[in-house]
Amino acid sequence: MSRSGREVHLAARPVGWPTSDDFRMVEVDVPAPGPGQVVVRNRVMSVDPYMRGRMSDAPSYARPYDVGAVMWGGAVGEVVESESPELAVGDLVLHEYGWRDYAVADASRFRKVDPPPGFGPSAFLGVLGMPGLTAYVGLLDIAEMRPGDRVFVSGAAGAVGSLAGQIARCKGAARVIGSAGSAAKVAYLTGELGFDAAFSYRDGPVAAQLKQAAPDGIDVYFDNVGGDHLEAAIGRLAQHGRVAMCGAISMYNETAPTGPRNLALAVGKRLTLRGYIVTDHYGRMPEFVAEMAGWLASGQVKSAETTVDGLDNAPDAFLGMMRGDNTGKMVVRVS
Ligand code: NAP
Repeated sequence: MSRSGREVHLAARPVGWPTSDDFRMVEVDVPAPGPGQVVVRNRVMSVDPYMRGRMSDAPSYARPYDVGAVMWGGAVGEVVESESPELAVGDLVLHEYGWRDYAVADASRFRKVDPPPGFGPSAFLGVLGMPGLTAYVGLLDIAEMRPGDRVFVSGAAGAVGSLAGQIARCKGAARVIGSAGSAAKVAYLTGELGFDAAFSYRDGPVAAQLKQAAPDGIDVYFDNVGGDHLEAAIGRLAQHGRVAMCGAISMYNETAPTGPRNLALAVGKRLTLRGYIVTDHYGRMPEFVAEMAGWLASGQVKSAETTVDGLDNAPDAFLGMMRGDNTGKMVVRVS
């Protein structure tokens, strides 16, 4: 059967903040599947901060997107044609061929998924997928959070941060503090998600607000933001404090990024600052999913999504996520 579909291509490498001109929607013919291949119609795709890194060709752990070629990223779709015994028409699959209507590849590139009751396919892009595992591994394995720790999470209303803070509560943190970019998000953190304290970094210097929220200090900092947040956390961390360096979104669009000016405090405080990339930790996925499923079922963890409709609007969804339009995971409904 001959099909056509749309793809979002990288039109140009942004310098500083990306704009919609850096993306181009292209109509393409969808190839027929070869032996062992399947055709998948995407239902939902993810927009993630790491995609900003792939739009650039600066040295990084991840291969950059090519200018003039389709972008990629997490997506869930439905098999609509199969030349493989491994997958059948109608199967729902998780894969890395986002930013397009149709994906055609070997069946081995797709993982069959079955959303639990009450959850849609997008759960595999958020609470039960990569961002959830990032929160779990970052908090428990990288920062080695222990019961009784005082935990500060930045980017706390986003996909990773909202889960990191809630996992900290589930694991017996003495106090969980979050920062986010609006009063509505602060109210969501303390009201809906049970954070003990939260503040908006737009309301004043982070260091002063963190001092007020954590007068006796913190033991763990889950860093999604970098910059002034990391500096403030280093200032508040207690002896032997630990930082999971998950991301530094405040720096991703900066042409002259800055580091914390008080890093030397790490020496006397015996701090551990440890970076990580979640793809090195996929072996933890089964334990994470089992534990998260229990927390979701008991209501101890709540997950939120912000959904944008239409592949045409995927670039705006991505730009909106970078600006903070999302609460919880930002996803795009493709079809
Ligand atoms: P997200 O938090 O759902 O969305 C990004 C959020 O960043 C926005 O909603 C916005 O919220 C916040 N933000 C934007 N500019 C900011 C600034 N200048 N200062 C403070 N906050 C800012 O995204 P996510 O997918 O959960 O990712 C969160 C972090 O984890 C990112 O740094 C990402 O790179 C990192 N990450 C790392 C790994 C890994 O393997 N290490 C894996 C996944 C994600 P506000 O309204 O609060 O500003």
